[in-house]
Amino acid sequence: MSLLVVGSVALDSVETPFGKANEVLGGSATFFAASASNLTSVQVVGVVGNDYPVEKLEPLKKRGVDLSGIEKAEGRSFRWRGRYRHDLNVAETLETHLGVFSNFSPKIPAQFRKAPFVFLGNIDPRLQLDVLTQVERPKLVACDTMNFWIESRRPDVLKLLERVDCITLNDAEARQLTEQNNLVKAAQWIMKQGPSLVIIKKGEHGAFMFTKGTVFFAPAYPLEEVFDPTGAGDSFAGGFMGYLAKSGDIGDASLRRAVIFGSAMGSFAVEKFSIERLLEVTPAQLSARVADFRKLVAFEEEL
Ligand code: AMP
Repeated sequence: MSLLVVGSVALDSVETPFGKANEVLGGSATFFAASASNLTSVQVVGVVGNDYPVEKLEPLKKRGVDLSGIEKAEGRSFRWRGRYRHDLNVAETLETHLGVFSNFSPKIPAQFRKAPFVFLGNIDPRLQLDVLTQVERPKLVACDTMNFWIESRRPDVLKLLERVDCITLNDAEARQLTEQNNLVKAAQWIMKQGPSLVIIKKGEHGAFMFTKGTVFFAPAYPLEEVFDPTGAGDSFAGGFMGYLAKSGDIGDASLRRAVIFGSAMGSFAVEKFSIERLLEVTPAQLSARVADFRKLVAFEEEL
C-alpha cells in the first residue's frame, strides 16, 4: 500500500564529535523516504529552492521513491545547522532557515491523495493541517513535531493532535508539549487530545509505544559507534510506517513489529552522515538486525 510523506527537504550542516558535514541532504521527508523505501514505495511532497542539488536525490528515485510532489520554488532551500556534543541524544540547533518553506503551500498531487498511509513529517503544523484537508480518508495518519514548532506554533500543534491517529516524538518534546515530567502521564495527556497511538523515542534508550490499554517497549540497537544521530527520528518513522504500509495491517501485533522495524532503520541511519547508510541497507542486513532485536529481549520465564 502506498505511503505519502510531507515534510522538510533540507540542506543540513552537522557537527558531531566524529566529524563535520556541510550542506548535505537532510530534512524530515528526505530521511523518512530514504528509510521507508527499504520496505515500500514512497511518495514525497515538499519544496526546494533553486539552489537545491536535486540530482543528489536521484538515488531515491532509483529506489522507487516518487519525487514528483517536490516543488521547485524561487528562493533558498530550507537549511538546518546543528551540533551534537558528548551526549549524542541532544541535538543543539545552531541555525534554522526556513527559506522557501516560509511561503510553501503544499499541493498534494491527485495521484497521491488516496494514499492509505500518510506521514506528516516535522514541518510547520499549519502545513501539516493543510495536507489533511487534501487527502482522502487514509487508513492511518501519523505526525511528528519538534521543540521549534511546539514553542512557536503550540495552538496549531494542539489542533493537529485532534486530527491524527499517531504521533512520534522524543522524550524531551513529549515533556515540553504536555508539561508532564512522567512519560506515561505525557502519553496519556496526548491520547486525550486525539491520537490513539503515541510513540515516545528516547534516543539510545529505545522507544515506547502507548495505546489506550497497552505499552510496548523496543530497546535501541546497541551500536558500538554512533556517527551522526541526525535523522534517527525520521528514519524510525520511515521504518515504522514503511512496515505498516507494506503489511497493510494496523493490528496490535503488526504495530509492535513496526516499532522494531522503526528501531532497526533508526540504528542504520546513525552509522553515517545524511542518508548515506539508509541507501546501502540490504534486505539481508535489515532482516538480521530485526532478528537481533528479538535476541536482545528474549528470555525464558521461570515459574
Ligand atoms: P531528527 O530525525 O529528529 O534527527 O530530524 C533531523 C532533520 O530535521 C534534519 O535533517 C533537519 O533538516 C530537520 N529539521 C530541523 N529543524 C526543522 C524544523 N524546524 N522543521 C522541519 N525540519 C527540521
